[in-house]
Amino acid sequence: NIMERTDKKGYEEAQKRLKMAEEDHKKILPELRKESRRNYLSKREAEKLEDLEAEIADEEYLFSTDALTERERKELEYKRNLRDLAKDYKKAGAKEKEERKNRYYMPEEKRSKRDMELELEMPMEGGGEQGRWEEERLKTASLIFGAKKEREKGLKAEREKYQLILEEDEMINFVSSDKSPCDNEQYSAALSQAEVQKQSIQEVRRSLPVFPYREDLLLAIQQHQILVIEGETGSGKTTQIPQFLMESGYNDGGMKIGCTQPRRVAAMSVAARVAQEVGVKLGNEVGYSIRFEDCTSERTVLKYMTDGMLLREFLTEPDLASYSVVIIDEAHERTLHTDILFGLIKDIARFRPDLKVLVASATLDTERFSCFFDDAPVFRIPGRRFPVDIFYTKAPEADYLEACVVSVLQIHVTQPPGDCLVFLTGQEEIETCCELLQERCRRLGSKISELLVLPIYANLPSDMQAKIFSPTPPGSRKVVVATNIAETSLTIDGIIYVIDPGFCKQKSYNARTGMESLIVTPCSRASANQRAGRAGRVAAGKCFRLYTAWAFKHEMEESTVPEIQRTNLGNVVLLLKSLGINDLIHFDFMDPPPHETLVLALEQLYALGALNHLGELTKVTYCSEEVLTIAAMLSVNNSIFYRPKDKVVHADNARQNFVVPGGDHMVLLNVYTQWLESGYSTQWCYENFIQFRSMKRARDVREQLEGLMDRIEVEVCSSGGDIVPIRKAVTAGYFYHTARLSKGGYKTVKHQQTVYVHPNSSLFEEQPRWLIYHELVFTTKEFMRQVIEIDSSWLLEVAPHYYKNKE
Ligand code: ADP
Ligand code: MG
Repeated sequence: NIMERTDKKGYEEAQKRLKMAEEDHKKILPELRKESRRNYLSKREAEKLEDLEAEIADEEYLFSTDALTERERKELEYKRNLRDLAKDYKKAGAKEKEERKNRYYMPEEKRSKRDMELELEMPMEGGGEQGRWEEERLKTASLIFGAKKEREKGLKAEREKYQLILEEDEMINFVSSDKSPCDNEQYSAALSQAEVQKQSIQEVRRSLPVFPYREDLLLAIQQHQILVIEGETGSGKTTQIPQFLMESGYNDGGMKIGCTQPRRVAAMSVAARVAQEVGVKLGNEVGYSIRFEDCTSERTVLKYMTDGMLLREFLTEPDLASYSVVIIDEAHERTLHTDILFGLIKDIARFRPDLKVLVASATLDTERFSCFFDDAPVFRIPGRRFPVDIFYTKAPEADYLEACVVSVLQIHVTQPPGDCLVFLTGQEEIETCCELLQERCRRLGSKISELLVLPIYANLPSDMQAKIFSPTPPGSRKVVVATNIAETSLTIDGIIYVIDPGFCKQKSYNARTGMESLIVTPCSRASANQRAGRAGRVAAGKCFRLYTAWAFKHEMEESTVPEIQRTNLGNVVLLLKSLGINDLIHFDFMDPPPHETLVLALEQLYALGALNHLGELTKVTYCSEEVLTIAAMLSVNNSIFYRPKDKVVHADNARQNFVVPGGDHMVLLNVYTQWLESGYSTQWCYENFIQFRSMKRARDVREQLEGLMDRIEVEVCSSGGDIVPIRKAVTAGYFYHTARLSKGGYKTVKHQQTVYVHPNSSLFEEQPRWLIYHELVFTTKEFMRQVIEIDSSWLLEVAPHYYKNKE
């Protein structure tokens, strides 16, 4: 009997697992068979296969087959069949994959002579530049990071020297991982920074990994309509490939080359660099276009733009007739806009055989792109990547911001020259980190050499952005504190050290509650590895992860979920509908959004009156001067009020002075109105602790909205000082964001979820009975940000179809 031969617990567990596995297997088999054209396993499926094999082995071990009940035997049999089937797929797939991979893999002789020479030098242990460098590194590593015990006497004295600067108990203990993820990548020896700086622009161009493949790449583009291009960050995809195309006639007849970027900063920065390389003024032949800023002209033939801008171009030019090549860059980012572009471009490529489509991505999952674009070939640019040693903390860090600051200083005083890159999640964090670093440096004074602290994030003025690219003066060290933008979009040369706290800001959406929030979450392992890779571009580097090796393995997701899977689809639906795409359920998404999210979006738009009962766009005419302003102010996203650390009291007083009855929307309106009355003055902003840049942006948004209203002939009128119609209009737009005061906080009307007024709100102390929130954010609690007080009777008035059954 089974019970006698195995322990009871083990048996029960196996039973449980069998049950779960059964459910699972019902799902995989059809999945495996679904696409007959595809005969290889996806990564997920391959993982499932591994699980399956482990399960079968377990069960075979636990029970000898003859002791199984009839049902268990059948299950085991079923699993074995499944395994065999999956194995067949895997075998066939491996072959095909290999073929596909090899299609464009470049032979050794193509690589530049310099790479080969440098590489020869590398493996000789102890000798050569690399050997010395490693030896030195080993010493310092054992000195501070506890990877090895101190073996040499002299080290102790040196350690004491450092202790004067950094107290031991405030230092972070790092442990080295036994395996660096880049072990198998191609190594080559260090190209000294000084050498890079001396090179002329053309020399730099020639030294980039993509350069030797110029001709092959152009040939491949000529032969295939759609080509996927994969290459390590910094290999020259974004800056070089468009130039290759320009140089070989893709602009004949005034045709344009377009290259999309998920981020505004990247589009601007890259365009500036390319204009410089080509030797033209930015905005002439080479330009960029981002929302509210069109830096192009009649002459522009190479246009960098955000993915959102190219989507907009579909509105005026549905077949992109003026483009000969469209490059969808940073495809691995899988932003919402990029994902939609995939579907649209795949579609137009069918009836525009002359259009070339390039899908460029960092070395991540490029087979998925190939698969989506009907098995388009993948062109791999062999990367140049130096080994990166990974260090983890021994224990989790409670305050990662402080940990970053300490790590930077630790690196600065203990490590050989080389710049440092820190990844944080947003502007606020970055500013705090920079302030802390500068303050600590000031205190340390001449005890340490110069540390240049440079921030980079989306809202940073462009002259400040450009600073991160300027070479580090000798004898000092540069530390760039960046958002995700430095992960793959921007390449900063000279980085040897990376500090990765392991977080990023991510939009997440709960289709059930309809709640969208921007939350700081652990980044994915794929992101973490990209970040680490930034340390190995010019020489061997180090990456300090401010989390444990265990967390990396067990707490992080394998890869980032595409944005389309975690966003409110309202805007997508409106956009696609305005492009005349009505059947959204069958739109060719690479990863379709969850069905319920799509349905919810349609429902909401219908409830708002933006779609009619046929699902067609309507003209909504509920608008006034004031609402336009409020919408514009809300769109700049909580960056209106400025609160410098050393003037907190002044700033809070200034903010208090703007408070008017009604709620935060009214406060925002008040701020804008006063600013307008000051003649849009910078000085006024400064005196009132208001961020001028945000206000300017709000003004741009407002003008754009006004222009749109004008175009569809909706009259913009004012409520003449009466605040009720304004609040009613907000209610009409946001009635599904209603919350009602109840014991211990507020409850959302829709889902009875407990939420709280954000302490920053003007209504924080008043706590009115009914209110409407603009957004929910989760920090320490579920907070409502930007709230407005309403009268519950308005709900029935503005959204009867929605509230009739609820009251
Ligand atoms: P990829 O797109 O493959 O990641 P890029 O084309 O962005 O690579 O970058 C290639 C090289 O161009 C970088 O290594 C860097 O040296 C240089 N570069 C890119 N942008 C700038 C810039 N704004 N300033 C100076 N150099 C830059
Ligand atoms: Mg790039």
